[in-house]
Amino acid sequence: MSATTAEQTEKQRSFVRFITRSYAQLVLVAFALVPAYLIGYLHFFQNPGLKFENHPFHEIAITGATFEGLFVTYVAWQCYRSSGEPLLRWMTLGFLGFVLIYALHGAFTRFAHQNIWLFLLYGPASRLTMSILLLIGLLSYRRPSDPADHRAGVKYLLSWAAIFLVVDVLVALLAHSTFAGVILLRVMESAALGLSMLNVVILMLRRPRSPLMLVYGISIMSFALSSVAFLLGSPWNHMWWLAHVIFASGFFLLSYGVAQAFLTTTRSFATIYSREELNARLVREMDRTKTALKEVNRTNQKLAHLAATDPLTGAANRRHFIACFETEVVRAQRDGTPFSLLALDLDNFKWVNDAYGHQVGDTVLQGFVRVCRDAIRPYDGVARVGGEEFMVLLTRTSLDAALAIGERIRVATASTTFASEIGREVSITVSIGISQFGRDGRTIDALLRSADERLYHAKSQGRNRVAIV
Ligand code: GH3
Ligand code: MG
Ligand code: MG
Repeated sequence: MSATTAEQTEKQRSFVRFITRSYAQLVLVAFALVPAYLIGYLHFFQNPGLKFENHPFHEIAITGATFEGLFVTYVAWQCYRSSGEPLLRWMTLGFLGFVLIYALHGAFTRFAHQNIWLFLLYGPASRLTMSILLLIGLLSYRRPSDPADHRAGVKYLLSWAAIFLVVDVLVALLAHSTFAGVILLRVMESAALGLSMLNVVILMLRRPRSPLMLVYGISIMSFALSSVAFLLGSPWNHMWWLAHVIFASGFFLLSYGVAQAFLTTTRSFATIYSREELNARLVREMDRTKTALKEVNRTNQKLAHLAATDPLTGAANRRHFIACFETEVVRAQRDGTPFSLLALDLDNFKWVNDAYGHQVGDTVLQGFVRVCRDAIRPYDGVARVGGEEFMVLLTRTSLDAALAIGERIRVATASTTFASEIGREVSITVSIGISQFGRDGRTIDALLRSADERLYHAKSQGRNRVAIV
């Protein structure tokens, strides 16, 4: 695919993504406004004089709402205790306040005819109280969590419960005062409507991405619309009942959100991530894990190399050499092809140290390993098994070939000038003893012993030579 075609496809993709996202947002708004369609329908097509005045039904419904409200208060409180989110604290208070005030709206159903305001005022009072508390809650959204040892306890809840009971008393006093009337009812309902709308607007401006905050927004929109329906309705008519239903649906939805928060590990409400965000996080974390794994692999390889290598010369160390040796013995025992072993010891090396110093000695050791590597095949390794003692394992190599390689090392060593890189000219020689699997035994010990014996033989014969017997 050419670069421009790829670019075009990418443009198309991001355009479709943009359209889909806009559609999803529009649908969400349309969904949040469903109660408005119902309100409009009733308002324009239903006779507002039609009534359904059924006291027991109203009492039973509000008793149910009270128990549900208490349960949701408890769950929200538990979420707050776990997460410390201020939003959850205010939501708990909102639910509690609503329940303690709204319950009296149900309890006074039977007074609907004696004192209509005692019956009616608790409705808007409960919604107003809740909308105030939820608005404060929203303003504390994204504030840091209350620290675990400073989280509000039962005392705090009880003192707020006392405040709500005071509100109950005030509403009763208002219901019996000269202020009681349609105007007061409407003022309270309008205030609840205004605060809920403000809540929705602030929420939209803050562009929450958490799915629970969307649930929160739609619920508050329902509360606002229920206030609209209460304002348009009159007691017991269909708009009035619809207002109850709209409020209840908002309450159900919000309690669903709280229950979802409760079921997560952190029990937080505001910081639950959206699926999109979770996906992005997952991809990021997977990338990070992959990089970390690669790093671990690299470090492991480095460690394995270090554990197998002599730090001065870079040759294999004794441990690694023995491991390779064991593998080679097993292979040779299985398929019968022999291999050979070279034991090498630098001649009169003590003298090199004495004459030139230890540092020059070190440089010569490094140079010697290079000479060996050049003289052997790439897959045969040199190991440093002692101070100036080395071993070379020649896989699938008979004694004759091993002798040729040993000679090559010996000649190359004798003809090389060492330590010239540090401004010295050092000549050395090496003595070599060779053993072969099969001829000199079939075990590591036997092969090492034979190679050593021949090495000493080479030394006693005058050094700078290769011995195979
Ligand atoms: P021969 O021909 O009999 O092997 O004599 P030699 O002097 O090489 O043998 P000897 O075993 O007496 O001495 C080995 C010397 O190798 C002693 C020590 O100073 C030197 N040597 C051992 N390890 C190191 C090292 O890491 N660096 C340096 N510079 N010298 C080392
Ligand atoms: Mg030695
Ligand atoms: Mg030596």
